[in-house]
Order: sequence, then C-alpha cells, then structure tokens
Amino acid sequence: MEDTVHQYIDGRRQAGHGTTLPLVNPATGRQLETLVLATADDVDDAVRAAKRAFPVWSRLTPGERSDALHRLAAELESRAEEMAQVETAQTGKSLRMSREFDVPGSIDNVEFFAGAARNLEGRAAAEYSADHTSMVRREPLGVIGSIAPWNYPLQMAAWKILPAIAAGNTIVLKPSEMTPGTSLIFAEAATAAGIPDGVVNIVTGDGKEAGEALVGHPDVAMSSFTGSTAVGRRVMEIAGRRGARVHLELGGKAPFVVFDDADVEAAARGAVAGSIINGGQDCTAATRAYVQAPLFNAFAERVAELMRGVRMGDPLAETTDLGSLISAAHRDRVAGFVDRAREAGARVETGGEVPAGAWVDGAFYPPTLITGAAQDSEIVQDEVFGPVLVALPFESDDEGLELANDTPYGLAASAWTNDLRRGLRASAEIQAGCVWINDHIPMLSEMPHGGYKASGFGKDMSAYSFEEYTNVKHVMIETTGRADKEWQHTVFRAESAERRD
Ligand code: NAD
Repeated sequence: MEDTVHQYIDGRRQAGHGTTLPLVNPATGRQLETLVLATADDVDDAVRAAKRAFPVWSRLTPGERSDALHRLAAELESRAEEMAQVETAQTGKSLRMSREFDVPGSIDNVEFFAGAARNLEGRAAAEYSADHTSMVRREPLGVIGSIAPWNYPLQMAAWKILPAIAAGNTIVLKPSEMTPGTSLIFAEAATAAGIPDGVVNIVTGDGKEAGEALVGHPDVAMSSFTGSTAVGRRVMEIAGRRGARVHLELGGKAPFVVFDDADVEAAARGAVAGSIINGGQDCTAATRAYVQAPLFNAFAERVAELMRGVRMGDPLAETTDLGSLISAAHRDRVAGFVDRAREAGARVETGGEVPAGAWVDGAFYPPTLITGAAQDSEIVQDEVFGPVLVALPFESDDEGLELANDTPYGLAASAWTNDLRRGLRASAEIQAGCVWINDHIPMLSEMPHGGYKASGFGKDMSAYSFEEYTNVKHVMIETTGRADKEWQHTVFRAESAERRD
C-alpha cells in the first residue's frame, strides 16, 4: 500500500490532511507504514462525493446494480490473496483465518447482495379501499455514513457497504484507523468493477474527529455503526441531535449453555473454537459457558486440554491456530481482566499469563479457561474481547436459562442438548439476536445478524438489512375519478348543514 494515501474519495486514493499515526503489525510490533488521518474536511469531501453520486446510482435498475455487484465479486476474487495478506499484517490474525474465513465470507456477501438487489420489493399492490389502489415503494435513503471496528475489517466493510449500495444508496465508510487496508482494496475493486465514482468512499480517521464528523454531517441520512456499546451510545447521541436514523451493531457477551444430556466432546470442541476464534475478538464469541452440574468437571477438563493443544504463533505459518491480538495495549487490557478475576478468587485452569521470551514483541495471549468466578463479577459481565472463556455450573434448566440472560448484552448465544424440547425452549427464551443449537459461530449471508438489549438494533446481512437501508413509501391512487370523494362528506355535509340553518 502506498504510504500516506489512505482515503478513497470520488473514485480515487487521496491523502488525508490530519495528524499521522504509525500502522503496526501487532504480531511483530514492527511499523508497517504511516497513516495520515482524515480530518472533518476530508469527511466532508467524501460525503459531497457520495451525495453527487446518489442520483445516478439510485436511478439504475436493480438489474444494473446487480450486474455491477457481480463484477465487484470477480474483482475481489482476483485480489483474494492480497486481501488475506493485508488483513493478517494489520490485525495479527492467522493467515489461515484470513484466507479461509474472512476473504471467502466477504466475497460470498457480495454475491448474495448481487442477487438480492433484484429482489428489493414492497408488498403487492391492492385495493384496500374500494376507491383506491395502494402500492408500496422501497426507496434508498441517500448517503449512508458507516463506521466499522478493527476485529474483522474486511467482513465489516462488506456488511456495511453491500446492503447500502445494493439498495441504491451511496456510502462513506470509516474503518478503524488501525485496519484500513482491506476497506481501501474493496473500494478500488468497486471502481474497477465499473461502480460509479463516489458510490463507495473510505475515510480513514480516528473516532473523535472523523467518526463524529461523519455521524454529525447534515447530508448523512443514516449512521450505521458497528463497535462497542459505549461508542454506539455516543453515535446515537450525536445523530439524535439532528433526528437522524441510526443502525447499531454493538458488543456481546455470548452465553454457551450445556444441558446435562449434551455430547460433552462436541460441546468442549465448540466452546474452544467458539471462544478463541479471531483471538476471541469476535462480538459473538462464546464467553460464558454454563454447564449443568453432572457434566461440569468433564467439560472443564476437556476444554482445558483442547486449549493447551492450540498452536499460538506466527500468523503467517500454516500450522498457527491463534495469532496475536490487535495491539499490545489490547493484550494488556485482556490480561488485566484475567488478573483481576484471579485476585477476586476465580481459578485460572489454563492460560492466563502473558507469554514471555520470544513472544514479547507481539501482542500474544494464550487460550484461557476460568472457573469459580462470581456471576456478578466483571469477567462474567463485561466484554473482555480476548481468548478467555469462563465456565460456571448450574442445576436446573430454569437456572441455566436465567444465567444466560443475566448480562446487559444480547447478541448471540448457544445451547447444547440432544433433547428437541430443551433446544426449542432455549431458542425461545434466550434474549439474543442469534441462538445456535449444538454449534456456535457459523453465519450466513442469507440470515440476519444483529442484537437485542445493549447489543444494539438493526440487522446486517440478509434481505432484512434492506429494511435498515431503505424508506418504505405508501403510494395511494384514487381510482373513481369523481370530484366529490365519499370520505370528504364528513367535511362538506357538515358545512352545507350549517348553511341551511
Ligand atoms: P470501538 O467502539 O472502539 O470503535 C469502533 C469504531 O468507532 C472505530 O472505527 C472507531 O474509530 C470509531 N469511533 C470511536 N470513537 C468514536 C466516536 N466518538 N464517534 C464515532 N466513531 C467513533 O470498537 P472497536 O474496539 O474497534 O471494536 C470492538 C467492539 O466492536 C467490541 O465491542 C465488539 O463487540 C464490537 N463488534 C460488534 C459487532 C456486531 O456485529 N455487533 C461486530 C464486530 C465488533
């Protein structure tokens, strides 16, 4: 990537005009390049470009937009390896993860929305009154201002950009300032695919200046935000001042409920994969395993054993299961949670120490299992966002489900059982936007993703996301052609009766 050119505005890379920020590979601690951040003026340029592009893009037929998105998928496919390398260098996640999960998942999202663009419809037209025909138009909103986090930079760019532009909107996306690389490639691929200049713009800046300028911009019709609950509330506050629409995908603290009839091996494997995927820096990661008492010891022992077998190391090595976390500062934050839990009397069954020696330059933290924590302690209640799983026992099914719902969050959850009735009950009673039964983590472009409670509202992916990125308009056509409409008699009859008196 060219040094210092990290904005993509109106169909080309441009330099920002803000302060500089070193971009660091968190697995090595070495600087990759220097970013010049976007200022509020750069954000304004990007919003203007998106506003200019809107009339052209929104008036294309769904078929034309669909064709453009199919070409975008092909462009991204041709840059798949480059995207995987950039994603790994900027996040520290394993190259295997970038190649096999992030890149193909994002391209699948483009292909889904290429198809979905042609199925954007309101309900069928009909005569709901004898004298009128009603129909529903689904219309794009205008310029969307989107803000994304650093944990899945490419997938978050796809989740934000695709439903917005498939529905005919134009977009300004602010990726995390730590991970701008793949969003910029995405925008270049859009231009190469023939998507008009200004439809997809990227501003790389920090949250305080560029992020707040984007949310507060008068020409931004909606702010679509993915990130922490605290910043999401700030976004809502700024957008609320001008009554603008928001879409919030926020933090999570997913419960993982294991009933006493479950397959312990499947549950233990699911808990390890589900808690350490992406270094645990996943909003849906399994973080709280509630295990019915008869299975607790067997489950905890097997999870600890599997965690000890996870190969942590150089993200570029094919054998690496767990790369580094996003930064040394974040690694220290994760370690702080575990240290405080230990001091409060919880047991660290495996992991729980910042590795020394050859590891010190990178932001590594090992898979960690904690037992004996109190339900109301911070390690159980707060988002750690690292490869840390807490396991706690429960007695009755009622208690297990109650504990699952006992945090402010509600993004994702899983229940492990071979009893259909227990699974169905868990799926109905757990307050979360996604409940898996006998699995944890898989997502599909066709299915909605979004939160309950403090995890936000609005859906990413799937046809449901169009509801977020469109306005629904009722068009009502009078069909009798008469000058005196029947409903007007409530007005005119009263008037003529008065005159007669
Ligand atoms: P963060 O909230 O710190 O930052 C997210 C984005 O907001 C970044 O681009 C940042 O620059 C920007 N930002 C920061 N302050 C801002 C402000 N005042 N105004 C506007 N923008 C601002 O989150 P993070 O640390 O980058 O990501 C981790 C968080 O994201 C976790 O809480 C995780 O659960 C959440 N997340 C949620 C989902 C989901 O789908 N619900 C998906 C991925 C990550």
